[in-house]
Amino acid sequence: MRAKKKLASLSDEIVRPLPEYLSTRYATWYNGHYQDHQSHYQELATYGQHPPAMIISCADSRVNAMSLFGGEDGDFFIHRNIANLVPPYNPDGDHHGTSAAIEYAVTVLKISHLIILGHSGCGGIHAGYHACNGTIDEALKQSIFIPKWLDILAPAFQDGAKLKPDAERIHDLEQRSIVHSLSNLAAFPFVRLAISEGQLSLHGLWHDIGAGKLHIYDAEIGLFTPVGV
Ligand SMILES: [Zn+2]
Repeated sequence: MRAKKKLASLSDEIVRPLPEYLSTRYATWYNGHYQDHQSHYQELATYGQHPPAMIISCADSRVNAMSLFGGEDGDFFIHRNIANLVPPYNPDGDHHGTSAAIEYAVTVLKISHLIILGHSGCGGIHAGYHACNGTIDEALKQSIFIPKWLDILAPAFQDGAKLKPDAERIHDLEQRSIVHSLSNLAAFPFVRLAISEGQLSLHGLWHDIGAGKLHIYDAEIGLFTPVGV
């Protein structure tokens, strides 16, 4: 066998082997879950992915759409970013990870449901609230990318200006920002087209982590209401 050609030269002081605890967890997955579901994975590899839904959720480690919906691999096309935000449609030739993921899901995978999943105690919303309020915390003062990303929240922050205490306004912004992202989504031409052709529907969810409750945005009354269990 010929020796493999190096992909690139990166210092092994920078890029390290997998930490022991992850190797152990992987071995457990491979020897257990994978062996039990081998045919499912082979099917996924052969026929590709056909997820019926896309979920845009926060990068927060406590938010797990797969666990919430009892999902199996192949069930959801998932995009995660800070504070589960959808930026405005802006085809300016720059790098747009979230918009690219949405475009792929809608135009190539032709998903039927696009869900924005927000959550309680969101650090991104908390930081964005303070940035919009002009009270940016010390930790973010040196940040390069985070404040710019969080300024997507500015219109939703302005809409909630009448609410008084900070905690109430932050909670309000967690839900208000989901509605704002839905409205940004609806302005993407290919999203609008898919909705008008009956291919796609949009959904806004907010997850109360401690209580385990899921709330859905009801566009008719303009509020989030609990999903029945
Ligand atoms: Zn979050």
